[in-house]
Amino acid sequence: MMIPTVRQTLAKAYANLAMAHAAVDRGDARFGPVHFMIRGRLRKGLESGTMRLGSLLDDERARLDRPQACAWCGSRTRLQLDHLIPKSRGGPETADNAVWACRPCNGSKGAKDPLRWLAEHGRFPPLLILRRYMKLAFRYFEEREQLDGPDPGDHPFELGELPMQYPSPTELVLWVAAASDT
Ligand SMILES: [Zn+2]
Repeated sequence: MMIPTVRQTLAKAYANLAMAHAAVDRGDARFGPVHFMIRGRLRKGLESGTMRLGSLLDDERARLDRPQACAWCGSRTRLQLDHLIPKSRGGPETADNAVWACRPCNGSKGAKDPLRWLAEHGRFPPLLILRRYMKLAFRYFEEREQLDGPDPGDHPFELGELPMQYPSPTELVLWVAAASDT
């Protein structure tokens, strides 16, 4: 078997995410032909370079519309700005690598990769967290011209933690809902 390039891995992971996102947006209870078509077209387009991952700006806009809450548990108290990709792992010092986290979640996650940390807690990542993670990864490898080679290792991401299988759309969330103020 051929070792996939970083671009192929990200294209496959992102196409699966887009399929899940479309199903959640449409309120579909299960995946079917429409979703598989979306996934297939996106994967092909991303692999061949005719399509690009959407801008991180979309995520910024989505974030501005939301109440400030912990990205991991929805708490609205004791919030701190946390690095999605930990700084100690080489995560960038940019606004799009920042998420709000409550002190307990921040402390529990520590310097761990967020996808690995969620997996250790038996939780499937919120879709918009996954999207941000993949966009940060795509940009990182693109800047280093490493998209078209195998996983170079020694970088801030855990490509092996990117989900390729999704639970049914009814079990997925875009974001963790913010807890009420009470
Ligand atoms: Zn929290």
